[in-house]
Amino acid sequence: MLVDLHMHSTASDGVLTPAELMARAAAAGIDLLALTDHDCIDGLVEARDAAARHGMRWISGVELSAQWQGHTVHVLGYGFDMQAAGLLEALDAVRDGRWQRAEQIGDRLAAKRMPGALEGALGIQQATGSDPHSPPARPHFADWMVQAGHVRDRAEAFRKWLGAGKLGDIKQHWPTLPDAVQQLRGAGGVAVLAHPWHYGFTRARLRRLLRDFAEAGGRGIEVSNGKQAPEQVAVLAHMGTEFGFLASCGSDFHHPDAPWMALGAMTPLPATCVPLWSDARFAEGVSA
Ligand code: MN
Ligand code: MN
Ligand code: MN
Repeated sequence: MLVDLHMHSTASDGVLTPAELMARAAAAGIDLLALTDHDCIDGLVEARDAAARHGMRWISGVELSAQWQGHTVHVLGYGFDMQAAGLLEALDAVRDGRWQRAEQIGDRLAAKRMPGALEGALGIQQATGSDPHSPPARPHFADWMVQAGHVRDRAEAFRKWLGAGKLGDIKQHWPTLPDAVQQLRGAGGVAVLAHPWHYGFTRARLRRLLRDFAEAGGRGIEVSNGKQAPEQVAVLAHMGTEFGFLASCGSDFHHPDAPWMALGAMTPLPATCVPLWSDARFAEGVSA
């Protein structure tokens, strides 16, 4: 059975619409999948209906950003109620925060004689087919700055204006790790720590994260993310078993031009892992 529980659509930073993504997943031979857009579940209904047409098992999904000890980590959620008020409110708050951040970047650039940045960045973002409700992010501002002739290229935009410590570097306030887990559990879902190696932590820090995640009610970890080195996957499989986590896997697909992140193409889970889809929520097949 081919399982891919991590992918993005135009509802966040992917380039395929949810329906296009599901068609591509079906062509890749995927049997069970979840769409996991960043802090957004707007693509789920379209994905669910398309997955059903293609005869694939589908479960609700999302990738939440969360704060842990001064770092941003990602928490995948599955099998939640898409109408749960608490989760919808939390997602709205994050979106409002992103809009505020985009407006602040626009104001700050205007004060530096670069007027119209927010509108310009929004135009660039919309041209990619992105959800009209989601605010532009720093790469969109960077592309607008190039287009408007303020900088030569994206790299210069980040070096001078948008990168760490520059005026466009406005911190977003994410929920804490326990709050993110609670938002998912409160909606009847299961929380899974995404790509534990991506944070650049030492093994000791990673263990502290896993311990805190387990204490917060986290149920699993993403043991295999894309075409990760088998040794890294093996270490996570081992650590996950130690903490009693279920094991998940996903491609983290964003766009078709990155063949190293193709749909359904992950390093296989070691046979010792207890797969996430042994959880009852996944047994219900196509669910809302
Ligand atoms: Mn992304
Ligand atoms: Mn992520
Ligand atoms: Mn992702």
